[in-house]
Amino acid sequence: MNADGQAVVAAVESVAERIEAERDHLTDLDSAIGDADHGGNMARGWAEAADAVGDLEDPDPATVVKTTGKTLMSEVGGASGPLYGGSLVFASAELEDGIDAESAVAFAETYLEKVEDRGDARVGDQTMVDALTPAVHTFKKSVETDDLGPLEALAKAVDAAERGVAFTVPIRASKGRASYLGWRSVGHQDPGATSTLFIMEELLATAADHLGADVPDVDATSPTIPDEDPEE
Ligand code: ADP
Ligand code: MG
Repeated sequence: MNADGQAVVAAVESVAERIEAERDHLTDLDSAIGDADHGGNMARGWAEAADAVGDLEDPDPATVVKTTGKTLMSEVGGASGPLYGGSLVFASAELEDGIDAESAVAFAETYLEKVEDRGDARVGDQTMVDALTPAVHTFKKSVETDDLGPLEALAKAVDAAERGVAFTVPIRASKGRASYLGWRSVGHQDPGATSTLFIMEELLATAADHLGADVPDVDATSPTIPDEDPEE
């Protein structure tokens, strides 16, 4: 049995449950600056994805991610369906030799690149990219530079995504449906950044469960801020 593949199936199931629980919340966010379909789109897509990956026979992680992406592409409409789904399908190739810290970083980077390619959004455009970019950069740095374990690195990435979601509030949308509002989008939290955070929180919870550990309580800035007072 492919234990990592089973863990990814469990992650997809837990994302589906979480998105269902947050359906109204996501819909409310999208009704303020969009067309009120993000909660429904995502809940339907992830429920279908959980069913689809549950039907796979002893899958490896890449197959689970690819199946999830394909299902999201066909079930989630709007801008977010192809962004989430297409990017997952593309990035799943990075997991073909299994999941370890290195392939997880490659997966995260490829996923972000694909979202950027497809949507042409960058940090500051009030989209999912605002949550994703700091999360991916933090994950990579935590693994490659700060030498943190996978769970701590993921916990830091989730923390960074949370700040990214908060960052969408005071800025103006320049991509997607919310950009039609111009300055009236200022003051609203982006729905896609928010769903990205929920997905990452579930990945972290499932990874902790899989590794038999507690979710680490991270201090977001600890490895980068030196202890010494530069004045001394
Ligand atoms: P739609 O806007 O077509 O109704 P959804 O409501 O499902 O689609 O998703 C809206 C979310 O999609 C936004 O909150 C934003 O995060 C994301 N989004 C929209 N356009 C883009 C884009 N060009 N690049 C990245 N993300 C985008
Ligand atoms: Mg919408």
